[in-house]
Amino acid sequence: MIDIGANLTHPAFRDDLPQVLQRARDAGVSTIIVTGTTVEESRKALELGFYATAGVHPHHARDCNSATIESIRELAGHPRVVAIGECGLDFNRNYSPHPDQELWFSRQLELGIELNKPLFLHSRDAHPRFSQMLKQFKIEKAVAHCFTGGREELRANLDLGLYIGITGWICDERRGRHLLELVREIPRDRLLLETDSPYLTPRDMRPQPKARRNEPAFLPHVLRAVARALGRPAEEVAAETTRNARALFGLS
Ligand SMILES: [Zn+2]
Repeated sequence: MIDIGANLTHPAFRDDLPQVLQRARDAGVSTIIVTGTTVEESRKALELGFYATAGVHPHHARDCNSATIESIRELAGHPRVVAIGECGLDFNRNYSPHPDQELWFSRQLELGIELNKPLFLHSRDAHPRFSQMLKQFKIEKAVAHCFTGGREELRANLDLGLYIGITGWICDERRGRHLLELVREIPRDRLLLETDSPYLTPRDMRPQPKARRNEPAFLPHVLRAVARALGRPAEEVAAETTRNARALFGLS
């Protein structure tokens, strides 16, 4: 399996990354794409030898300038950079003003199109602005990572041709129940799985991991929740989502 989104440069993994990676391999998670949330983190992910995305999360939009885009462009030339992002809009936390978020989201979309790279997209409480903005671009390959929205937002994303990334949010009985139904509406060739480690530890894991830290080895837990919701064998869903990740990110 392929975890398409894990934040392995996060300090939560500083002390035991080799063990985390070993557990992932033991769990059948053979490939991990590390999410780049800043130029610095993207660079760190590459230094650690991972596949990575290169981009700036909307939280950090206020710190961007034109040099940021040039740095991302340079990183994108690295053979292990498989996508531009994560980029997008986050109107939940609003750590950066909306005009900054929109400006640097646009610039990263332009860069992805110019370089013909897939886009790794983040949208939180930003519907419908997110899809309005995407409509102005000719996006060919992109994933709405960590999809948590409702039916209308899902339809808008699928109409734009996006892949949909599902995390352990679907295991959250308080705020993820709607996803149990919505995953059935995602075409089989559009579905991707991710952990978003160390965040979004599946709430129904027993026992809960130490310090409630999520890690790539828990991807099969997300897989099983999705497969149950679809009423389909987990092996089939694993094979399909792996194939989809390979197709989107151009992995062999
Ligand atoms: Zn995100």
